Amino acid sequence: MAASGIPVVSDVRLAGDGKQTRFILDLDQTISFRAFPLADPYRVVLDIPQVSFQLPAGAGTAGRGLIKAFRYGLVMPGGSRIVFDLNGPARIANSYLLEAANGQPPRLVLELEEVDRTTFVQSLSVDNRPELRPAIAATKDAVATIEAQAEPAAVLDKPATPADLRPVIVIDPGHGGIDNGTQSGNEYEKNLVLEFGSALRDRIEKSGKYRVVMTRTDDTFIPLNDRVRIARNQSAALFVSIHADALPRREGDAQGATIYTLSDRASDAEAERLAEAENKADAIGGVNLTEEPTDVADILIDLAQRETRTFSNRFARLLMGDMKTTTRMHKHPLKSAGFRVLKAPDVPSVLIELGYVSNKEDLEHLVSENWRSRTVGSVAHAIDAFFAKRLATAGPAN
Ligand code: ZN
Repeated sequence: MAASGIPVVSDVRLAGDGKQTRFILDLDQTISFRAFPLADPYRVVLDIPQVSFQLPAGAGTAGRGLIKAFRYGLVMPGGSRIVFDLNGPARIANSYLLEAANGQPPRLVLELEEVDRTTFVQSLSVDNRPELRPAIAATKDAVATIEAQAEPAAVLDKPATPADLRPVIVIDPGHGGIDNGTQSGNEYEKNLVLEFGSALRDRIEKSGKYRVVMTRTDDTFIPLNDRVRIARNQSAALFVSIHADALPRREGDAQGATIYTLSDRASDAEAERLAEAENKADAIGGVNLTEEPTDVADILIDLAQRETRTFSNRFARLLMGDMKTTTRMHKHPLKSAGFRVLKAPDVPSVLIELGYVSNKEDLEHLVSENWRSRTVGSVAHAIDAFFAKRLATAGPAN
């Protein structure tokens, strides 16, 4: 990695106490950076150019002083990010780079200081205000790459290209980059669902009947709203989000795949817990939640949504019928809750939890090529059945 010119992060250290906490990052070259606080939950985001994190396993899971924990990873092409979860309101008292000296490598230092909430909120002034996208590495090229990724429609719908009238299916592998999702040992949800999503794309593309768009094809963090936006911009006919659940050890064991649709009220306590966990993705990735548009609450949208929900539920039932022939299902395999990623008002959307990484057998399935291939086959079959019915219902005039 170093040979490619990508800076290497080789170590991190925390020092200090609950009044003042210092974070030190060891590098192999100096880099540009930007640090800013975020509210609710209290976080500090450190944006840096894309680096190679070569940190010991478990780095960031235990905090110190004002820092509860931190995560790190790619947040966009060319940009890495570290998100600190704070134990309470704090201000960035100081942040600076140290050149290599006295046998020490170049270092990035962040000093946090405890403040009260009022002071904290005041520190979120305009120029300090976090943005959805980090400003680092914001060369025109990098920005163009992001825009092309987030809105491929603009690229694909050039007038010169003949219109592609095939239904668009958006496959959404959950999490990515700085957001690992659930985890068991070295198996991360973000990787398992990307593999599954890619295999599903390959399978349904092969039929030639659909145009498939992925919300991500690599280990990049994608905010939840961007995932929804991709589906809407593409006028997708179906949105399939892929995840893998985990149950905390103290809560016993659960197993099998579950299919979720959107509802205002969760179908049960477990569905509510899960939606809450999945909706945290943006907080984990360091997105400023206070700047996110509030839920679209428009009567017209509500009407569209009713029809969309009928289609979502129909697809969920078809999917269950097919998946249960190849996959171990949860004892209540059809559930609903307020998943933000399912909120496109005009795109039928479901979220599949493929299984529990916390369950031994489920995890064996999730990493098995054979299981993946069979399950991908059943999902592809359900998609075919869904569109066979939709196209027949729509009739020749539409
Ligand atoms: Zn997930």
